[in-house]
Amino acid sequence: MKIRLSLVVAFCLIASMAFSLLLSLGSARAQEPRPQPADLILRDGLIYTVDATNTLTEAVAIRGGKFIFVGSTKDAMRFRGKQTRVIDLKGQFVLPGFNDSHVHFSSAAQFLEFNIMRVATQSEFIARVKEVAAKLPKGEWILGGYWGAYNQWVAGSAGSTRREEFSPDMRGVEAVAGDHPMFIRKFDDTEFAVNATALRAIGLDPANPTLAGGRSTVADAKKKQGTEPAGSAIDGVEFIRDATGRFNGHLRGRGVTSLFATAIPAKFSHERRVQQTKDALAEIRRYGVTNVSDMSDDEQLEIYRELLKAEELTVRVHFRPGLDRWREMAEKRIKIGSGDEWIRLGALKGHIDGIMGTSTARFFQPYSNDPGNRGKWRPLMTDEQGNFVEGKFLQYMLDADEWGLQISVHAIGDEANSVLLDYLEELNRRNGVRDRRFRLVHAQVVRQEDFKRLGKLGIVAEVQPFHLSDDMRWMEERIGRQRCKGAYAFKTIKDSGAILSFGTDWPGTSASEYPINPMLGLYAAVTRQTLTGEPAGGWFPEQRLSIEDAIRAYTYNSAYANFEEKIKGSIEVTKCADLVVLSKNLLQASPREILDTKVMLTVVGGKIVYGSN
Ligand SMILES: [Zn+2]
Repeated sequence: MKIRLSLVVAFCLIASMAFSLLLSLGSARAQEPRPQPADLILRDGLIYTVDATNTLTEAVAIRGGKFIFVGSTKDAMRFRGKQTRVIDLKGQFVLPGFNDSHVHFSSAAQFLEFNIMRVATQSEFIARVKEVAAKLPKGEWILGGYWGAYNQWVAGSAGSTRREEFSPDMRGVEAVAGDHPMFIRKFDDTEFAVNATALRAIGLDPANPTLAGGRSTVADAKKKQGTEPAGSAIDGVEFIRDATGRFNGHLRGRGVTSLFATAIPAKFSHERRVQQTKDALAEIRRYGVTNVSDMSDDEQLEIYRELLKAEELTVRVHFRPGLDRWREMAEKRIKIGSGDEWIRLGALKGHIDGIMGTSTARFFQPYSNDPGNRGKWRPLMTDEQGNFVEGKFLQYMLDADEWGLQISVHAIGDEANSVLLDYLEELNRRNGVRDRRFRLVHAQVVRQEDFKRLGKLGIVAEVQPFHLSDDMRWMEERIGRQRCKGAYAFKTIKDSGAILSFGTDWPGTSASEYPINPMLGLYAAVTRQTLTGEPAGGWFPEQRLSIEDAIRAYTYNSAYANFEEKIKGSIEVTKCADLVVLSKNLLQASPREILDTKVMLTVVGGKIVYGSN
């Protein structure tokens, strides 16, 4: 009895305490202005905000495309209104949307339409042709392809394995290509392939194509005998024949592209480009990328604007025309900050040297495997004969900078990087020191003594970590181990005080594919290994980054690189509500798990553009 009584007392006490607590909460709340209801609340997640202290939290509330609350689920639910959509993340990992600081969108869009780079069998090839033929408007050309790019690849460098040389058999396409003419290329442009429709389009008999009044078309043999007219458009066109003497659809020689040039439209129709763009946007959404810095042509910019108007643009775009176009930008009054949070202008991109892939990147010392070669300067550095012109490139930089544009320059070899740093110092002397965020694009091989200048000059190193997984196959052979110490040296770049900004260079070159998937870049930055985990421990492992630094480089730092870190790049109140929900907690994922991580939801401006929940 006594016990029961005390239980009752205790119960009453607790009840009255709870009641008064409720009352006090109620009155406190009554004094606060009732928050505007959110459009979307994401609750009970593991949200890595990438704010200044890398805060981990549970929930966000979004209204009008911006974060209006970031914090606990309990507090987030105060923003729930009648129309609010609430998604329970059930503990899933959330990051700010990926911000890819280097893409070539129009090439990627074209590449996605038709490519057989990784195709290794005839049946796969036929399936691809069928697919693109069904998609294209009647009679449009099927172009590109780039077969054979991965034939000789060392196992694993891009997820492919060594295999037999594949070459498309064109006799199989006649039934599936329909009325679409086909002109496709081998990755290194040493061979081309066409179908019957393409031959008819240039007035040749598909059964027995011949050129110039019935002369033998096996031009190489003729040329050696001196009977082929020199310098003609058909010079060097070789129709390859099988053992029975039948043309097999393949051509070789310098004249091939000009032979078909008149028949192939100089550019795609606008409608086709819009379709390519839409397909590429779908690819981007699938990988959680919410912002790209793009170096496409003006028509691409126009298409972005059309899609934005139609509310179909699902990625934000930072757009960079060529450095030689600074005057045009000045005439249009475009400078840093021009545009809006969807389409941002105000930066330009130039090239100073070549690339590693073709041994044209510019070095102080010759290539280790090519003693006569130090690489090449690009045209903005030279006269028409290719001779270096003192001050030419610098003048473009001075003019663009003076007008107020941000400058970014492609530099691969150690001399190219060093010369650019000299130019930047000169820019400071002549135009004054200010917050330029000069973008050193690729910053691929840097001389040891130049690293400290990166930080001092406040540069943004716009790097593509997946290049390293791809290039390490032959880097040491080409430039030797000593110079490789300064190659893709992300940790040293970061420690110098420079800002690392990550991207992909999507879609890559005709010889190597760089997918838009950010997981490949994060993996490469933290492991410095190929996709199959070689070498053990990583290539120059002292240059590995932490996953936290890699994520920051792919989000906040890329926003910083675009002068947009106040509105993008982290999950904070007032910023654009761009985020990605992932299948794994990247902070605790093994390298293999990073690669296997999937995007569950992509949210851009508070709208779910990929995934469902
Ligand atoms: Zn590029």
